Amino acid sequence: MRGVVLHGPGDARVEDRPDPAIVHPTDAIIRVTAACACGSDLWPYRGVDKSDEPVPMGHEYVGVVEQIGDQVETIKVGDFVVGSFFASDNTCEICRAGYQSRCVHAELIGAIGTQAQYARIPLADGTLVATPPCPTPTSSRAC
Ligand SMILES: [Zn+2]
Repeated sequence: MRGVVLHGPGDARVEDRPDPAIVHPTDAIIRVTAACACGSDLWPYRGVDKSDEPVPMGHEYVGVVEQIGDQVETIKVGDFVVGSFFASDNTCEICRAGYQSRCVHAELIGAIGTQAQYARIPLADGTLVATPPCPTPTSSRAC
């Protein structure tokens, strides 16, 4: 697949990246239909945050679910979904109190990089929200 990788300040490239795959049974694979450049993406782009190696970019995204792990129960293949910038289980005490970004199982989506054609989303049931019905297609890339 193609995805954005930041190689250094001001050096964002669209390049080939490995296709994502289900790693944990709570994962989903989505086809990203839109992704944003967040203000926090600009910190490393501007050189404020340093990295010694190329890093994938993106943590704000929507898309269509292409595949789910065996333990995903509420998200289905074909759902149009909005995802959080932190993966969360949405079941722990912290999530139930409304602080999903501080979930005891939180994973940073930015480390996965959603400015790409596809993304593996951990803890899919807690991280993704399906928005039925699918938005009206504006291109052949919609649901
Ligand atoms: Zn949680």
